[in-house]
Amino acid sequence: MSKKFTEVPSAEPYKIKVVEQIKRIPREERIKSLNECGLNPFMLKSEDIYIDLETDSGTTAMSDKQWAALLTGDESYSGSKSFYNLEKSVQDVLGYKYVIPAHQGRGAENILIGTITEKDKYVVSNMFFGTGATHIVSHGGFIAELVIDNAQDFSDPHPFKGNVDIEQATRFVEEKGAENISYFMITCTNNQGGGQPVSMENMRTIRELTSKYNIPLYLDFARFAENMYFIKEREDGYQDKSIREILREFTSYTDGCVISAKKDGLVNIGGLCCVNDSKLYEELAERVINFEGFIQYGGLSGRDMEALAQGIQEVVEFSYLDSRINQIQYLGKLLQEGDVPILTPIGGHAVYIDAMKMFPHIPQSQYPALALCNEIYIEGGVRTSEIGTLCAGFDPITKEQRYPALDMCRLAIPRRAYTKGHIEYIAETIIRVNKRAREVRGLEFIHEYKTQSMRYFLSKFRWVK
Ligand SMILES: *Cc1c(COP(=O)(O)O)cnc(C)c1O
Repeated sequence: MSKKFTEVPSAEPYKIKVVEQIKRIPREERIKSLNECGLNPFMLKSEDIYIDLETDSGTTAMSDKQWAALLTGDESYSGSKSFYNLEKSVQDVLGYKYVIPAHQGRGAENILIGTITEKDKYVVSNMFFGTGATHIVSHGGFIAELVIDNAQDFSDPHPFKGNVDIEQATRFVEEKGAENISYFMITCTNNQGGGQPVSMENMRTIRELTSKYNIPLYLDFARFAENMYFIKEREDGYQDKSIREILREFTSYTDGCVISAKKDGLVNIGGLCCVNDSKLYEELAERVINFEGFIQYGGLSGRDMEALAQGIQEVVEFSYLDSRINQIQYLGKLLQEGDVPILTPIGGHAVYIDAMKMFPHIPQSQYPALALCNEIYIEGGVRTSEIGTLCAGFDPITKEQRYPALDMCRLAIPRRAYTKGHIEYIAETIIRVNKRAREVRGLEFIHEYKTQSMRYFLSKFRWVK
C-alpha cells in the first residue's frame, strides 16, 4: 500500500467535435500532380495532399471556445470591445504595456522594425526569420546572427540551441561600438535553427549586456509558449513554476516583441506588436495606421481579435503544451527507431531530417532536401517543406547558389490538428523512403525563377538522369 500511485500517461487534452474530411489519392495520381507542379511540392493543390506538414503557421485547429468567441466579435472601427479583450489577454499573459494588432507576423515586423531600424547600423540576433531580416535590410540596417556554434551541428545535444553566443555578442558590441547597434531581436524558439529554444539564463545575460550599453532588446516571439515549455522541462529552477510565471520573467528582460499569432496564438491569421515605452508606442501607432489599419484592429476583424484573445489563454496551459511538444518528440522517436537521421534535440514545432545524410549519393547542388520532400509525398501523400539549399537562395551580389550547413526537410506539425494515428502514418511513410534511399535521384532546374522568394515557391525541377 505504500507504493506510490502513478497515473497512466495522459493522451491529448481535447476531443474532436468537428471533423474535416481528408483523402489520399492513389500513388499514380500523386506522381502526376507532383510532375504538374515541377517537382516542387509547394505548388501542390491541398486537395491532393493527405497529411500536410508544410507549415505550422495558420494551420491550427481552433477550440470550441475560440469558435464561440468569433460570434462575439465587435466590428467597430474604433473602440472595439474585441480590441480591449485582446489587449487585456496579451497584457495578462505576456506582460507588455502596449499592444498593437497586425494582420500577421510580418505586418507587426513592418511596424516595429520599420520604426526602430537605423540606417547603416546593426541588428543583432541569434538567427533571423526571413521576413524580419528582409525588413531590416530594406531599412538600410545590417544583420548579425550570433547563435551558439552548437546550433550548426545536427546532433549536438545542447538543450538550448537557440541561445546567443554571449562571448561573441559582447565582443561584437565592443568592436562595433554600442552606437552602431540599433537593437537586439532574439527569435524564440529559433525557427531557422530547427525550432530550438532560448534559455532564461541566456535571456537574462543578454539583458545585462544590452542594459550596460543601453541597447533595446526585442523578441521575435511567434513560439512564445513552446519556448517556455522547454525552460520548464530543461532549465534548473523552473520545474515548479507555471508556464505563465516563466513567460512573465522572460518578457521582463525585454522591451517588446513582434508575434506571428499564426503559431502560438492558436489562430489562422493575426499578429501582434507589443512594447512598454509610451513614446515608441506613439511612433508605432503612426505607422500602423498607414500600413495595417487603425490601432484598435491593425488589419484584423473584431472576430479575429476575439479568437486570438482566447487562443493566447489556451496556449499557456501546461496540458496543451505537454501534449503538443510530446507529439513532436514521439514522431522524432519513431523516425530515429527507423534509422532516419534527424536534428536533435527534437525541436518544438517540427522534426527536421538531415537530407545529406539520408542521401549521401546526392550532391548538395542537386537539392537533396527537396528530393526528399518529393519522395515523402510520392510515398504517402504527405507534404513537407525544404529548409535547405533551395531555401537558402543565392548570394544577392554574386548570384551564386548559397550552401547552408544544414540541408533539411522539415515536418512542421499543425497545432491540435492531427492524431497519434496520423503521426504513426507519417513515420511509416518516411521510414519506407529511407529504406529505398539509394534509388532516389537529385534534382535540377527546368525553370529557375530569378527573384529570391519566388525562386523557392515557383521554380520547376526534373530528376537528374
Ligand atoms: C512565421 C514567422 C514570422 C512571420 O510571420 P507571418 O505570420 O508568417 O507573417 C516571423 N518570425 C518567426 C519566427 C516566424 O515563425
